[in-house]
Amino acid sequence: MYALETKGLSVDFNGFKALTDLDFTLEKGELRVILGPNGAGKTTFMDLVTGKTKPTKGEILFNGKKITRMSPSDISSMGIGRKFQGPNLFENLTVTENLEIAYKGSNGVFSSLLFRKKKEMKNQLEEILYQIGLYERRYDDAAVLSHGQKQWLEMGMLLAQDPELVILDEPTTGMTAEETFKTGELVQSIFKGRSVIVVEHDMAFVRQIAKKVTVLHQGQHLAEGSLAQVERNKKVQEVYLKE
Ligand code: ADP
Repeated sequence: MYALETKGLSVDFNGFKALTDLDFTLEKGELRVILGPNGAGKTTFMDLVTGKTKPTKGEILFNGKKITRMSPSDISSMGIGRKFQGPNLFENLTVTENLEIAYKGSNGVFSSLLFRKKKEMKNQLEEILYQIGLYERRYDDAAVLSHGQKQWLEMGMLLAQDPELVILDEPTTGMTAEETFKTGELVQSIFKGRSVIVVEHDMAFVRQIAKKVTVLHQGQHLAEGSLAQVERNKKVQEVYLKE
């Protein structure tokens, strides 16, 4: 059984085909990079998987269960977590408070959690703080973190939700080369064992993390394989030369 499978997934926006007949599979525990030029349909694909956009036709299966027309909140509680490109945290709360809000089952009302649960949460969040390299910054407001640290905190918030499938939308946007490299290390370490989809442009980053790559173009599946295989693919070369 696949972690994620789509069959004939299509969506058109008033006649514009943003995604056409996409058959896609992701193994459990696999890390997949989705590549493609601007407008290829990458964001639309992720919007469909997370329920933000409803398909015109086709199916989406998560662990073999149909999630095609489920609401974003039901899909999220089934175990699909997404980190968007832009900053999406509470600047006026501390690093730890941001993680508490994201924590699975907290529903934002962590004050009402049982003592035992609170202790369990504290231990897990401490572990996450170490993993994302922000333990020393745990009492600082998120606002004073660097751009890279904010992104890592958001990755920690995603981890605190304990999703089975992690979706990262262009996680290195706006980062320095050094921050990008650290992000690559984090993606590979903190989400180990989970299924991960990364949408990304930065080729140095893709080279660092990618095992298998799927290339989309004009809403269609263009190529798939190792990065080396995909880079040798004539159709892929043509698309990127035209950019
Ligand atoms: P990518 O993420 O690969 O850059 P997108 O998925 O954002 O591509 O967009 C694919 C195409 O679908 C683009 O041409 C975009 O303009 C179009 N599109 C995306 N969302 C909508 C929408 N809600 N209404 C109309 N067109 C859309």
